[in-house]
Amino acid sequence: MAWASIIGQEAIKGFLQRAILQGRIAPAYCFWGPEGVGKDALALEFAKLLNCQAPRRSAGGIEACDRCSDCQQAARLEHPSIRLVFALPPPKNRSESSALLGLSDDHIALLREELRRKAENPYHNITLPNALQIHISAIRDLQRTLSLAAPRPGRRRVVIISEADALTTEAANACLKTLEEPHDDVVFLLTTSRRDHLPPTILSRCQQLYCPALPEEALVAALRERHRLSETEARLIAAFAQGSYAQALTFLEQDLRNLRQQVLSLLRLALKPGRFRLQLLHAIEELFGSADRIRAELLLSLLAFWLRDAFILSHGGGSDLLLNADEEGTLRRFLQRFPEADIGAMVIAVEHALQQLRRYVSIPLLVVTLLMRCRSAAIPSRPRGVSQCPSSL
Ligand SMILES: [Zn+2]
Repeated sequence: MAWASIIGQEAIKGFLQRAILQGRIAPAYCFWGPEGVGKDALALEFAKLLNCQAPRRSAGGIEACDRCSDCQQAARLEHPSIRLVFALPPPKNRSESSALLGLSDDHIALLREELRRKAENPYHNITLPNALQIHISAIRDLQRTLSLAAPRPGRRRVVIISEADALTTEAANACLKTLEEPHDDVVFLLTTSRRDHLPPTILSRCQQLYCPALPEEALVAALRERHRLSETEARLIAAFAQGSYAQALTFLEQDLRNLRQQVLSLLRLALKPGRFRLQLLHAIEELFGSADRIRAELLLSLLAFWLRDAFILSHGGGSDLLLNADEEGTLRRFLQRFPEADIGAMVIAVEHALQQLRRYVSIPLLVVTLLMRCRSAAIPSRPRGVSQCPSSL
C-alpha cells in the first residue's frame, strides 16, 4: 500500500517524495503534531522507501515497491539499516551500557509483542510498563551501531526516534552530539507530539514537518474501509477521535456507548440528593479500581465530551455541534434540572483531571476529587433551609 497506507497527510507525503526525487534529503527531520495522526507511520514509510531496491515512480511521485526483501524487512521492523528508538523501562543499573541488557525477560517478551503490533499497525503507540523516558543507554547503543555498520552505496541508514520528547536531558545531549557528527548516509527522523519539550538545539538541526489532525471525513473513510464500520458507527467514533486515528482505534476496541453510560451513571450518583458518598465510592472503585491510565483517559474523555455538549446547548448552540447528538434529550433534561450549574467549571475540572492522569496519581482518588468538584459546580451551596436536590439527571 506504501503511501496509501497512511491516512491523509498528503502535504507531508508530497514533500518527502519531492525531497527524494530532487536528491535533497535533509540529514534530520522532525515530524510533529497531535498524537495519533500518523507521524511514526510517515517516518516508517519514508525509511522503507529510502531502503527499497525498486521504488516505483508515478506522476510526480515515488513510493516503495513493498515487494523487495528490503521493503519486507522494513515492514516487519527488522531492517538492519532502520533503527527504531523509543522509551524503555529504566535500566536496573545506571551504568548499564546497553538499553536492552537491563531489561527483564518479561519486558523483552512484552517488547517483542509491542514491536509485532507496531509492525502490523504503524499507528500503534509502543507502551511498556514504566517506560516513560528514552535513556542515555539507548543513545549509546545507537552511536555504537552507527560507528560500526558500513554504509551501503546508494542506500541510507535511518534512525527513527519515536516520541523524541521522552529523551532524558543526558540522552538529548548525547543525541545532539550524534546529530552534529557528519554521517552522510544517515537520516534521522524524530517524531513528537510535544515539540516544546524538545531542546531547541535539537530542533534547530531538524527540518520540521507539521502533521495536522486528520479531517473528520478522512477518519470516517478510513474507519469504513479498514474496519467495515457502518456510516453511523464511523461518524460517532470519528467525532470522538478528534483527528487522531490512534484514538479512533482505541474507541473501536471499546463499546463506546456502554462506556459512556457507565461514566454518566457515576455523574448521576455524584449529583444525587441525600446520602450518596458511600455508593459513589463503591461505583468509582468498580469502574476505575482496575483501570489503567489509557482506560481512565478514555472514560474521562467521554465525560468531558458529554459536558462539553451540555455547555454548547446551554449557550444556545445547535444540535449539529454536538458530539453526543444521540444524547440530546438527556443533555437537555440535565440542563433543566441543574439550571444554576456552572458547566464551564465542570469541563475545566475534567480537563484538569485528564492532565493529572499523566502523573503518578491514584486514579480512583482523582475521580473522587473530580466528581466532588462537579457536584459543587452543579449544585451551588445555598443558605440553610433552602433545598435544591434534583432527583436525577
Ligand atoms: Zn521495495
